[in-house]
Amino acid sequence: MRDETFLPARKGLGQNFLHDQRVIADIVAGLNPKIDDTVVEIGPGRGALTKLLLERECDLHLIEFDRDLANYWRDKAATIAHLTLYEIDVLKFDFGDFLGNSPIRVIGNLPYNISSPVLFRLLEARKRITDMVFMFQKEVVDRMVAQPGSKQFGRLSVMLQQACRCERILQVPAGAFSPPPKVKSAVVRIVPQEVSDYRLIDEGVFGRLVKQAFSMRRKTLRNSLKEWFDAKDYETLEIDSSNRPERLAVGQFVALANCFANKSGL
Ligand code: SAM
Repeated sequence: MRDETFLPARKGLGQNFLHDQRVIADIVAGLNPKIDDTVVEIGPGRGALTKLLLERECDLHLIEFDRDLANYWRDKAATIAHLTLYEIDVLKFDFGDFLGNSPIRVIGNLPYNISSPVLFRLLEARKRITDMVFMFQKEVVDRMVAQPGSKQFGRLSVMLQQACRCERILQVPAGAFSPPPKVKSAVVRIVPQEVSDYRLIDEGVFGRLVKQAFSMRRKTLRNSLKEWFDAKDYETLEIDSSNRPERLAVGQFVALANCFANKSGL
């Protein structure tokens, strides 16, 4: 599709369109959709990824919020049997409910200003999501795949790695986009685990605990979680309470959350 078919890029909707054909092919290869797959693409834009996804002949569902781009894709969907358009803000899209409960695969070069809320929304629906391939700001991908002890390791790393395997598959230079963004980008593949290595008694407790621990990153666990645990709890779990949260493994956060859930009779 030619650029001149479309209106100028809208900054407010994070419209940095991919034009590097090699990068585009690598992203689609990262998902590698098959003909029987149901694939959801968030933000097809001018169709950089969409064009290759259509060639795979999978059942393709597009979510696009820009009215002009949505008009374009609505016309296409009218003539392509395996293409469906949803003209909606992705933050209002119900991933849990659409098309019943069949497995879906998700792909997108997301607007960077909404990447975290989109991700947390998808995590809520992860039971039906086979895998996801996303372009994000490089710093976000660094945090997703970070290991304990690094300064990138934080709330996003723990929340994501409790439930999913995450792998960086590509670094993408700003020149691969038009207009080029001011930040570096990277592509990540996220695979929700059907049975997590880290089983939780209560997901809500885990979410609150991780948030609390990292809200005071420079404080020790003993201080930041003083309302949650006493010295005996740390002793039983063999966790050093003088540690800062970034030193704890994901499994140790899970152990703390389960300990709290047990104490509270959840
Ligand atoms: N996939 C295209 C590409 O790689 O060139 C476009 C990527 S561009 C970074 C982001 C796309 O998401 C744009 O098409 C934009 O209109 C769309 N978008 C922005 N905010 C959105 C939202 N809240 N819901 C759905 N789509 C949105």
